[in-house]
Amino acid sequence: MQNEQTTATARPPRVAILGAGPAGLGAAWQLAKRGNASAVVLEQRDDVGGNSGSFELHGLQVDYGSHRLHPACDPHIMADLQSLLGSDLLDRPRHGRIRLCERWIHFPLKPVDLVLELPWSFGIGVAQDALQKVLPRTNGHGAETFASILERSLGRTICRDFYFPYAVKIWGASPDELSAIQARRRVSAGSLSKMVRKALNSVPGFKPPGAGRFFYPRRGFGQISRALADAARHAGADLRLQTSVRELHLGAPHRLVVESDGQRQELEAEYLWSTIPITALARMVTPAAPAAVLAAAQQIRYRAMILIYLVLDQPQFTPFDAHYFPETEVKLTRLSEPKNYSVSKEPAGQTVLCGELPCAVGDDMWQASDAELGEVMRDAMARSGLPVQARVLQVVTKRLSHAYPIYYQGYENAFNLLDEWVAGLERVLTFGRQGLFAHDNTHHALAMAYGAVDCLAETGAFDQARWRDYRIAFTHHVVED
Ligand SMILES: Cc1cc2nc3c(=O)[nH]c(=O)nc-3n(C[C@H](O)[C@H](O)[C@H](O)COP(=O)(O)OP(=O)(O)OC[C@H]3O[C@@H](n4cnc5c(N)ncnc54)[C@H](O)[C@@H]3O)c2cc1C
Repeated sequence: MQNEQTTATARPPRVAILGAGPAGLGAAWQLAKRGNASAVVLEQRDDVGGNSGSFELHGLQVDYGSHRLHPACDPHIMADLQSLLGSDLLDRPRHGRIRLCERWIHFPLKPVDLVLELPWSFGIGVAQDALQKVLPRTNGHGAETFASILERSLGRTICRDFYFPYAVKIWGASPDELSAIQARRRVSAGSLSKMVRKALNSVPGFKPPGAGRFFYPRRGFGQISRALADAARHAGADLRLQTSVRELHLGAPHRLVVESDGQRQELEAEYLWSTIPITALARMVTPAAPAAVLAAAQQIRYRAMILIYLVLDQPQFTPFDAHYFPETEVKLTRLSEPKNYSVSKEPAGQTVLCGELPCAVGDDMWQASDAELGEVMRDAMARSGLPVQARVLQVVTKRLSHAYPIYYQGYENAFNLLDEWVAGLERVLTFGRQGLFAHDNTHHALAMAYGAVDCLAETGAFDQARWRDYRIAFTHHVVED
């Protein structure tokens, strides 16, 4: 975004926000509240929340895969969310399990569980790894990779039995193909000592505030976005659902072509704040992005995900909130039971399970029918010792085309080219998980939104230098699982 001295206009500038996920909604609310800009939010779906949304299934609000609000959220943003959600924002203990070496280990890790439940061979392997210095397994050009970083910091045993098979399933790439940046940003327990500290977090006396807990809205994770949307509307923002942005004609003002109900309409805005995938942004602008930028957009890839929901004719499947499956023979990466997140008693006699199946848009899984995907889920559960025994009342699936950014080695060259190109466009900003191709949590997406609004001065000018500082701060976001 060029031009530090963006001039003030007579009326408050209009900011067109692309996407009504947490990033877009957070920005709309903050802008409307401050009143020095008018916000119009354009969202292609019929509901707000993006990947952090929820929908109703069998009387229960269910999410697009397991979602929790982490206590690591900036206190100022947390206070805002608490004021919006009140007593609906529940403070819950985490109660999950990881399937490791065919045993169940509590997640977050507990020392006693690690000692009693894991096979001795695993413990001995980890101890030997801690004593031995692992030689870095670089990519042949001497560069670090996801694999080399994790092997050196966590040892071969943990990598072989947990991180590497999990990485293959989540990102669809071998650990050697992935960038070292993926390891630094995505693995919060990045060394054996950090892992030990995380395990000790469960022990009274060692427990920091918030450890082993999470926040969750009574009516599903999407209640956060719905509350932000209501607050934004109340403060004067214009939220337009089922409105897909198709073309962006850059100028002063920018002209947007949107499609709603099959009708194409145009609208104008001084600022364009995009939270849609940066690759999509590059493809829809006029004048067209340079060929090198469009080529970079081709090299950036997002992993897709299918969410498979089984409605079971039983009040509860297990007392656990989530089960994690690193093993390759189990196709799902995670299974969650939404009722256990919200402590919902309804529907009284039924529960819903949500299986997460990473895939690529258009592959065999993406094209499979609900019945086939229901079988994939049942098979994965049976292999993990969690067979479905109750009657399955319904199988529902949802597809996310942009679930995770994939950090292949060298991806940053392509991303940096795109990012620099956007930075050179006047009054255009990109942020949010899709906009910055970041593995961020919801609270990070909100922090970006708040940062963007903080940079828009009362005069209507955008403080580019301050935004650069924020961008540096965003690189320190570490994803919480
Ligand atoms: C399986 C899974 C589990 C996760 N678990 C957690 C968790 O436990 N805790 C946590 O904090 N975070 C979690 N996350 C991350 C969280 O979902 C994201 O951080 C958050 O949704 C990012 O918000 P956003 O607004 O940046 O992007 P998004 O939520 O992706 O929103 C982008 C919006 O842009 C819209 N859009 C795209 N193209 C167009 C267009 N052309 N026109 C109009 N609209 C468009 C999309 O429809 C979408 O609504 C998880 C993510 C996944 C995939």
